[in-house]
Amino acid sequence: MTTAGKKERIEMLAAAVVAGDRRALAQAITLIESTRADHRDDAARLVDLLLAQAGGSFRLGISGPPGVGKSTFIERFGLHLIGQGHRVAVLAVDPSSRVSGGSILGDKTRMPELARNDAAFIRPSPAGDTLGGVARRTREALIACEAAGFDVVIVETVGVGQSETAVAELTDAFLLLLQPGSGDELQGIKRGVMELADLLVVNKTDGALRAAALQAAAEYGAALGLLRPTRPGWTPAVMTCSALTGEGIAEIRAALERYRTILGSDGTIARLRAEQNRHWLKSELADALIERLRADPRVAEAITRLEEEVGAGRRTPLSAAREILAALGLKDWPETG
Ligand code: GDP
Repeated sequence: MTTAGKKERIEMLAAAVVAGDRRALAQAITLIESTRADHRDDAARLVDLLLAQAGGSFRLGISGPPGVGKSTFIERFGLHLIGQGHRVAVLAVDPSSRVSGGSILGDKTRMPELARNDAAFIRPSPAGDTLGGVARRTREALIACEAAGFDVVIVETVGVGQSETAVAELTDAFLLLLQPGSGDELQGIKRGVMELADLLVVNKTDGALRAAALQAAAEYGAALGLLRPTRPGWTPAVMTCSALTGEGIAEIRAALERYRTILGSDGTIARLRAEQNRHWLKSELADALIERLRADPRVAEAITRLEEEVGAGRRTPLSAAREILAALGLKDWPETG
């Protein structure tokens, strides 16, 4: 296809996404996810076009360990939002699917009612080679969803301690789902992950689990007392709900609305977005530089050898990085520090 034809095709795709065409949105995300070099160029052009229409959604990160009830919660919460006139997109990031060979998240059967609803769009983010790669594609998919008119975008990730930071960096608010259990309630959740949460929600506060859930919430609340505010004017809270019965869902929605009002009123969300965009630029630059380095045969050999040496503890990362740059002919380092 000629360059001009291609350009036109991307413009038409962007226009269809903005018009709310769901098939176009799915197609746009497929392009965004492609790792083919020519597709990357097309995707970059597409995202540039969509960016002008994006930025208007509330971006909510949701994480929690497997089995905590993420899909049940998102289905219930998403339907609640749709009932109030919102349009909800769900992007599921699953860094572990690289190992399992398929995405365990985002499977439409996990959220059957939401998947059938015209005001919802559900999409798994496939495995990538790097967490950075997954985050990059998710960020671009998020922009596409916003351009298509979804005013709430939920980014779901399985809480295994790898992807939370990346997701927290993509979103305006980060909700951590927890469940009642036996013994030390804090076990299994890394403190660093807890510190990212703007809202902690103990799910399964129902039936036989109710008392244990309330107890867990109290324990998390006590632990949280030791944490800092996540944003100016906002100290994280612990709430309880039952995704099964819907109890507590409206209260969680109200808390997120308060959070949004507080952050929106003093320009925090705008600053956050600007910060996220600068961060995005840096990570794109780093990824592109590493890609270029690996494409140079002299350097590729040095990287493979030095990765091995660094891994074995025979070289420090700093000296290895210097040798890689030297292999590229970049001998003169600017003085730092
Ligand atoms: P995910 O792996 O985090 O997505 O968890 P799922 O949403 O698939 O839920 C895991 C299991 O917990 C399922 O059997 C759900 O029916 C159950 N579950 C989810 N939410 C609740 C809840 O609020 N109360 C109770 N009792 N069970 C729940």
